[in-house]
Amino acid sequence: MPSEKNAIRKDPGGKLNIALVYPNTYWVGMSNLGLHAVYRDLNAHPGIVCERFFLDVPRSVEHSRPIQDFHVIAFSIPYELDWINAIKILLDNRIPVKRTDRKSGPIIIAGGPSITLNPEPLANAMDILFLGDGEGFAESIYKSFFDSGNMDELLEKLSRVKGVYIPSYTYPEISCDAITSFVGPRPLISVTNPLNSPAHTAIITSKTVFGDMFMIETARGCPWRCKFCSARAVYSPFRPVPLDVLKDLFDKALESRLRLGLVSSALNDHPKADHMYVKIMEAGLKIAPPSLRVGRISPGLIELLRSSKVRGVTLAPETGSQDLRYSVGKQITDEAILEDVENLVSSGIKNIKLYFLVGLPGEEIVHVNAIVELVKRIRHVFVKVSKGNKRLGQITVSINTMVPKPHTPFERAPMLDPREARSRIKRIAKGLSGINNVFVGYEGPKWAYIQSLLARGDRDVLDLLIRMAETESSEWREVMNQWPRNPDYYALRKRDPKEILPWSFYGY
Ligand code: SF4
Repeated sequence: MPSEKNAIRKDPGGKLNIALVYPNTYWVGMSNLGLHAVYRDLNAHPGIVCERFFLDVPRSVEHSRPIQDFHVIAFSIPYELDWINAIKILLDNRIPVKRTDRKSGPIIIAGGPSITLNPEPLANAMDILFLGDGEGFAESIYKSFFDSGNMDELLEKLSRVKGVYIPSYTYPEISCDAITSFVGPRPLISVTNPLNSPAHTAIITSKTVFGDMFMIETARGCPWRCKFCSARAVYSPFRPVPLDVLKDLFDKALESRLRLGLVSSALNDHPKADHMYVKIMEAGLKIAPPSLRVGRISPGLIELLRSSKVRGVTLAPETGSQDLRYSVGKQITDEAILEDVENLVSSGIKNIKLYFLVGLPGEEIVHVNAIVELVKRIRHVFVKVSKGNKRLGQITVSINTMVPKPHTPFERAPMLDPREARSRIKRIAKGLSGINNVFVGYEGPKWAYIQSLLARGDRDVLDLLIRMAETESSEWREVMNQWPRNPDYYALRKRDPKEILPWSFYGY
């Protein structure tokens, strides 16, 4: 096992034993701040022992125990594609995947952003699904577990807890392949407010993407309303972490002497952002910023970036056309983008990464071409301001295909056909090829297709997840072709306004 600092090892005797499973590799899982937060919260309870498992660590990290030894298996799943790995882990441990096939054994729970967006594809696999923020759940599950004589009593007790969705209590009624209504109590998404104990690095290890950083969540949620983005759906409302709480965490980061990784969807929208930057500089800490919202980059932030010797930042124009950008809810002008690039590069930032999407509703070829034109304009400013530097930095253009996500204004929109998405991406790459210092990268639209299928799935999708998990390779086209249902029905179809959506039975 990789060396770690601050891992928690408790005597499991007489306590509720929870296996916290991240269904991806140790590297990916330990790079996820949500996992650190859940691990810390559960272990903070004196009656709970929580040990970690990963796809490539099949026995617990803490004591090398098998997963069947635990009372509860809790999956933390931020991304839909990891649902396949979660099923694989159950299969590898010979735990029946379908809830109704299990007569005994651990209680199986799943939570995380992908579950909050749409728990239905895992509804027939899990005993409990958790929606929203997990803070406070440790006490609820501890008490319910020790006050209950059997699983039915435990579920009954937990069903009263905010955030808990019991899929055997609440379920859709189906007629002619369509949902006609939902039966059972309406679950509510759990919201922690105020955020007095934000997520931060709990275990220090070099084997993560952020190995040299101490990560701190400075706010949860986002005050903006981009129609394609699920940040508001999963984390609402926008909750900045109080400054005094952050100050204590900065002191904690100082002890590890690591760079500070700030985590927020809207860093500069923290009402005390400039005070926060001053505190960081006073503490002598250096930062790594998250993706920055264009038009919200203050002189205070630029000063912090400069003092931290940050070499690269990420901006997300999303599309090259200002009109399309406004129509999808991202109200940022082209001029604001160019101005921010100028200010950042003149303050010493060497490299700029730009995120773009293809397949936004209303996108036409003229808008795709506009991405090429905008990048050229950005490069023009970039080169002009960089004059005099010994070495010109680079502009990295990262292109993804939009996945219409549940609970967003685009939840009923069709996804762009992956062949057309690929053609648009190629068009952008060709338009920018041969331009010095501009590099283009993209994720294949086939992954967006699978994500769209899973993210907007219903309970029938579990069968596909099991077939995928049973397949050794990740070439899933053949698996999808053999599935009795039509995958395009889920991934590409435009939903009728009258259609009852599988994820529409819960909310705030
Ligand atoms: S895209 Fe960024 S700014 Fe827009 S809602 Fe999502 S997190 Fe907020």
